[in-house]
Amino acid sequence: MFNCISLNSRSFFPFVWDNLRMISTSTVGLCKQQQQQKYRPWLNIEQANKVKPSSSIEKNRQDREDLAAAYRGLAYYGLSEGVCNHLTSRTPAKNGEGEVMLIVKYGLHWTEVTASSLLGINIENGSVLEGDGEPETSAAEIHKALHSHILKTDPSIQSVFHTHPPHATSLACLEDPTLHMIHQNSTRFFEDVAYDCGYDGLATTGVEGPRIAQQLHGKSVMFMGNHGVLVLGKSTAEAFDKTYYLEKAAELQVLAMSTGKKMSKLPDNLAKFVNQQIKNDSRFLVAAHFESIKRILKHTYQGDFTS
Ligand SMILES: [Zn+2]
Repeated sequence: MFNCISLNSRSFFPFVWDNLRMISTSTVGLCKQQQQQKYRPWLNIEQANKVKPSSSIEKNRQDREDLAAAYRGLAYYGLSEGVCNHLTSRTPAKNGEGEVMLIVKYGLHWTEVTASSLLGINIENGSVLEGDGEPETSAAEIHKALHSHILKTDPSIQSVFHTHPPHATSLACLEDPTLHMIHQNSTRFFEDVAYDCGYDGLATTGVEGPRIAQQLHGKSVMFMGNHGVLVLGKSTAEAFDKTYYLEKAAELQVLAMSTGKKMSKLPDNLAKFVNQQIKNDSRFLVAAHFESIKRILKHTYQGDFTS
């Protein structure tokens, strides 16, 4: 019988995205002062040295660019929905004091999101610390609760994506929304899916967000009954890759179920084996996928997500 909450061990795809992006061949061989001036050519060395948190500012900027690319990239794949749904990531605050949660401001289409348009939100009280505008109410509530929960349970998680992708959401609308191990795309999520069957309306009262967070049980994916899906990632690149493949796995399952014939399910030991095979290569796949989307966005989408 279907169990609403899966309690098996969590598995994350390894990644080196943060490490990779910190390596800039253009700065190799430059002393610290030269690097600071390179990043801010409008400042002399003395002024540059007074810019206190160069690493915080640069990390904040890079995380903004990544998240903006994720919004536009999922829109490119047709996985956005009007001006709703929300992707967030934690990053060092621009002022160097603690972290903020980056999120789209309400009313902006995902194809319009740029690095500088993202809001930086205080994770504890929801106040807007960076940017102009306000997040959508339920977006702020769900993601604030999730990041607060993650900071206590697994701070290595940086990004939380909430979407309503059509096939994954179709499964979430079934009495039994189990993602079955029927394809290698499915095995990416072997023993890493939680199911929340307690949908209780729009998250506007301060209750739904913490309730959802409690249903994660250490998993990095959640099917939210009668609602959509959540994906957690140790980087924006990872959350992006997982959101894409979750929808592809769900699409295959929905198509297979639509035939009315019995699905051919992989035995657990084989699903686990394929999961490990993908994990062992994923540090390259995750970064390569996200980088390819960035290139496509720059060439085909109007505007520049880095601005
Ligand atoms: Zn939603």
